[in-house]
Amino acid sequence: MKVAVCGAGAIGAATAYYLSRLEAEVVLIERTGIACAASGKSGGFLALDWCDGSPLAPLARRSFALHAELAERFGNPWGYRRLTTFGGAETGGANASLVDWVTPAIGVGQRLGDLRTTAQIHPAAFTRGLASAAIQLGASLLNEEVTGLLWTADGRVCGVKTEEEEVEADAVVIAMGPWSILAAAWIDLPAIYGLKGHSLVYRTGHSVPAEALFLECREADGSVVTPEIFPRPDGTTYVCGLSGDGALPLDPAEVKADAGAFRRLQAVCASVSPLLTESRIVARQTCYRPVTRDGLPLIGPVPGSPGAFVATGHSVWGMLNAPATGESLAAFIMGEAPEVDLSPFDPGRLPPVSLGGERYRPTYHRAPQS
Ligand SMILES: Cc1cc2nc3c(=O)[nH]c(=O)nc-3n(C[C@H](O)[C@H](O)[C@H](O)COP(=O)(O)OP(=O)(O)OC[C@H]3O[C@@H](n4cnc5c(N)ncnc54)[C@H](O)[C@@H]3O)c2cc1C
Repeated sequence: MKVAVCGAGAIGAATAYYLSRLEAEVVLIERTGIACAASGKSGGFLALDWCDGSPLAPLARRSFALHAELAERFGNPWGYRRLTTFGGAETGGANASLVDWVTPAIGVGQRLGDLRTTAQIHPAAFTRGLASAAIQLGASLLNEEVTGLLWTADGRVCGVKTEEEEVEADAVVIAMGPWSILAAAWIDLPAIYGLKGHSLVYRTGHSVPAEALFLECREADGSVVTPEIFPRPDGTTYVCGLSGDGALPLDPAEVKADAGAFRRLQAVCASVSPLLTESRIVARQTCYRPVTRDGLPLIGPVPGSPGAFVATGHSVWGMLNAPATGESLAAFIMGEAPEVDLSPFDPGRLPPVSLGGERYRPTYHRAPQS
């Protein structure tokens, strides 16, 4: 079976990897660059049980286990490690802190996770690692923009069009993150939005312990921000927490920060720890996480378009949930029993967006399947 996977973020890379393990012939098609978007610029924070009580719980728990397995299988080139996780808020020094590298004005008083329940990866290295692993298993990578689908005369999806060529395939997976919405011009997809986030990466060295922080702070004008701070084993510390309201640009290479966002985030960091104030900033990043109307991802076959599948909308948990998404969707496509029940993520549960007008479906030369 030949499968075209569109988009090489964490979701596309994991799907390509697990499809390749099941001996599918995979073409991974990426417009801009592997991990160029949220999958390269996210926090990479992982939690075993933070999705408990929601339909995501089985996907998250399976993914948490797969992250450990993948790191061990590939020699951990993406900085996977368990870490302790704390929560805190500005208290003006009223409470004792559980961590010693944060300013006393911030009371870090909650233990949110420990070495059994929270972990991290470097997201770009992880995404590139899974794409490379798929390629090692025989997948090919096309650096092209997917611009449409190919159809058989009897209405089956049988490949994709890029700006360069036509790629025949028995199945197509749309895993283009927030840009998956562009495929709603070709197939029935529910709304998918992009929510903007900004992040900074500091070269802090190894003086910051393996302690992730989820904080609530106030900016100078009194507005509340919630920075998430993840020291990494490579001697950097990642901080995100400022959402933005800019619309998703059509081209992933055109993503831009909101005016003043990095300055504001830097000021928040300076109020959190002297270690951040003193350290050099090595990356200022902006990206969009893909979200759906009900907050759950879309994973599975696209209604009314046999041969088309979608895997997107993972919101704040795309790095965590990439492995089990890829594993279970690959099994589903290959006719095997998925490890995780994908029915809560059925793309057909939400109404498709209407882009108006007649959908143009040029038929392709491949014969109908019997
Ligand atoms: C600030 C921030 C912090 C986050 N922190 C965490 C975290 O700590 N833990 C966690 O689990 N999740 C986190 N997330 C969420 C996570 O990053 C996303 O859910 C995840 O990266 C989405 O992956 P994706 O593969 O669906 O999409 P993307 O990473 O957006 O990848 C989509 C890919 O498709 C490509 N593409 C687009 N259009 C086309 C086309 N026409 N043809 C071919 N290719 C195309 C793009 O170039 C891109 O490479 C965070 C998100 C943000 C914004």
